[in-house]
Amino acid sequence: MSTHPRMRREYATIEIMIRRYCRENHRQPEDDGDREQLCRDCSELLSYAQKRLQACPFQEGKTTCGKCKVHCYKPQMRGKIREIMRRIGPRMLLTNPLLGIRHLIDGLRKQPLKKNRSSGRKFRR
Ligand SMILES: [Zn+2]
Repeated sequence: MSTHPRMRREYATIEIMIRRYCRENHRQPEDDGDREQLCRDCSELLSYAQKRLQACPFQEGKTTCGKCKVHCYKPQMRGKIREIMRRIGPRMLLTNPLLGIRHLIDGLRKQPLKKNRSSGRKFRR
């Protein structure tokens, strides 16, 4: 797993959003004992999203997944994550302003940064 701050932020953001969405939409009465427990669908989605991030060819040069041109999510998972982004995304600004704002800024990057072979550095800044 990448330890670049940008990627750590991606992992943190997606996890917070999926957890919140699940807690608000999927929790069954019998789940009361464990607030952190994700339903089966959402825990599957979270580990899927983490795998996609690990496999992302752009890594810390990436734009946000919602704006990326490479649609690496399979359609079913993509539908779920889009719904979560739509419902939870705007409220991230209120509840997790730092992550929310950074996510917006990351999303302003329309194109993923290209690897720059000649300079020897991995990414241009
Ligand atoms: Zn759920």
